[in-house]
Amino acid sequence: MPVESVFPRLEALLPHVQKPIQYVGGELNSTVKEWDACDVRWALMYPDAYEVGLPNQGVMILYEVLNERDGVLAERTYSVWPDLEELMREHGVPQFTVDGHRPVGAFDVLGVSFSTELGYTNLLTALDLSGIPLSAADRTEDHPIVVAGGHAAFNPEPIAEFIDCAVLGDGEQAVIDITEVVRAWKAEGRPDGRTGLLLRLARTGGVYVPGFYDVEYLPDGRIGRVVPNRSGVPWRVSKHTVMDLDSWPYPKKPLVPLAETVHERMSVEIFRGCTRGCRFCQAGMITRPVRERSITGIGDMVERGLAATGFEEVGLLSLSSADHSEIADIAGGLADRYEADKIGLSLPSTRVDAFNIDLANELTRNGRRSGLTFAPEGGSERIRKVINKMVSEDDLIRTVATAYGNGWRQVKLYFMCGLPTETDEDVLQIADMAVKVIAKGREVSGSNDIRCTVSIGGFVPKPHTPFQWAPQLSAEETDARLAKLRDRIRGDKRYGRSIGFRYHDGKPGIVEGLLSRGDRRVGAVVRAVYEAGGRFDGWREYFSYDQWMKAAEGALAPFGVDVDWYTTRERSYEEVLPWDHLDSGLDKDWLWDDWQDALDETEVEDCRWTPCFDCGVCPAMGTGIEIGPTGRKLLPLSVKQ
Ligand code: SF4
Repeated sequence: MPVESVFPRLEALLPHVQKPIQYVGGELNSTVKEWDACDVRWALMYPDAYEVGLPNQGVMILYEVLNERDGVLAERTYSVWPDLEELMREHGVPQFTVDGHRPVGAFDVLGVSFSTELGYTNLLTALDLSGIPLSAADRTEDHPIVVAGGHAAFNPEPIAEFIDCAVLGDGEQAVIDITEVVRAWKAEGRPDGRTGLLLRLARTGGVYVPGFYDVEYLPDGRIGRVVPNRSGVPWRVSKHTVMDLDSWPYPKKPLVPLAETVHERMSVEIFRGCTRGCRFCQAGMITRPVRERSITGIGDMVERGLAATGFEEVGLLSLSSADHSEIADIAGGLADRYEADKIGLSLPSTRVDAFNIDLANELTRNGRRSGLTFAPEGGSERIRKVINKMVSEDDLIRTVATAYGNGWRQVKLYFMCGLPTETDEDVLQIADMAVKVIAKGREVSGSNDIRCTVSIGGFVPKPHTPFQWAPQLSAEETDARLAKLRDRIRGDKRYGRSIGFRYHDGKPGIVEGLLSRGDRRVGAVVRAVYEAGGRFDGWREYFSYDQWMKAAEGALAPFGVDVDWYTTRERSYEEVLPWDHLDSGLDKDWLWDDWQDALDETEVEDCRWTPCFDCGVCPAMGTGIEIGPTGRKLLPLSVKQ
């Protein structure tokens, strides 16, 4: 049966909301397939506003992978702003997709990609607006199965009650496999209903169905064990790893946004994974091993993508783009190829030790020379050893000296506050570093017009990292430490005015910490915040710390735990962590040893260039490091249409 578009009803509401264009759909390269010609239908959600969600590569890739398949359709849905939500409730308009404006509740699968835990309340809003019961246990065969993915899915326990399943790791092959299971189950007449479908998915070993696991707690509140409650369901669920990125050249036709978004450029992922071993970095740990896309594969994607979109800037995306073994040839080749068209190139993240001025010059050859950004992360040499960010102050000063000497006037430096073992002194050294950067800049450029901006975020320990056992700094201590740093910078008569200072207060980090390392009991907090009106927690103007603390107090008290228990408490080796049954491939003993190395200020090398140090990922996943150099050149292009 065809499903009716809600657009006529929605259209009447749009003149009354902010930025109505974001709900209209019809972007260049979007797809609307015929409902009845398909037997498996996905709604893909990014649980934030359109301006953040549309450029998300994960959603864009899965959208194309699914729509390329016969008999399968995928449409996108984003969180609606509270102004539209109110009108939708008043007029009975359900959560809809922006492609066909079909009600989300009519799809077979609702796939939600979580880059951050602060999107959890937006999931509940979308479920409720869709008419899907918030608790998975209350859903029937008529409701879509709700699948969580993205980095936050590596510990989905705080939303275990609200999702039917979670998928860890790369989604490309996983969505195809899930589609085939759903298709077969539907074709067979939906044997054993919803539970039958979930059992089939769980038994593949790569789909986590929280409902099939019981969590037992110890009297002191810690987890005793997590046990499967069905036969054939694995004790541990594995992550998915796509090995040959060249065989997944997505997105081939990137979406071009209708409204303003956070990125107005085309992005090409040049490699996946990172083995630098920064101990705070969840993305680096859970996306191992390193898998590079070939230089010719990148060239093809850029050529095809630019032709399909008309973008004027290409972002070379990855966790540390300058680490690609052929980055110099990639940047040089692209700059040559697109010189006449004035296509700009950018690397979203650059490590101090991987940066060189030739690369920077290639990147700016066809575009503007904007500010340079580096992330030393820690202010003192000591704390950088703790976090395994092997960047010395000398390296940094040398690098910025080259940049200032070559005409740059602005450098931005990223740091974290609240890292394990950190003291006030470690953070105050951020000011000293900024002063040295400015002084060097003035010296080499001969100009006083030099700026350095330090940007500081609160550190949140994340699952599947060596810091998963670490105590988090309280919001009050973070704020006090940052206030001292601000005073030190402002008090510097000679350099203070040249130093920009941006920081986030410690409160959102505590909520993120609660959700990152939480277990199933935290679900009651998420629900209470949602019911009290919590929305868009990643947005400063909507986030309410008091609302979260109040909800947590009420919801956690019956269990004898509280927010501090989840955040500022250090864990022991013996403790069962809420995500231990979710296998990121990292060996828990290796993570623990690395945590001990952190406390001893011992660094580890990057396994890309040194012998394997047994983090466990490669043998556990049957994978290996996939890196060049291939020795191939980007020009002439080999693009196949
Ligand atoms: S198993 Fe060895 S080679 Fe593979 S990512 Fe871990 S340390 Fe590196």
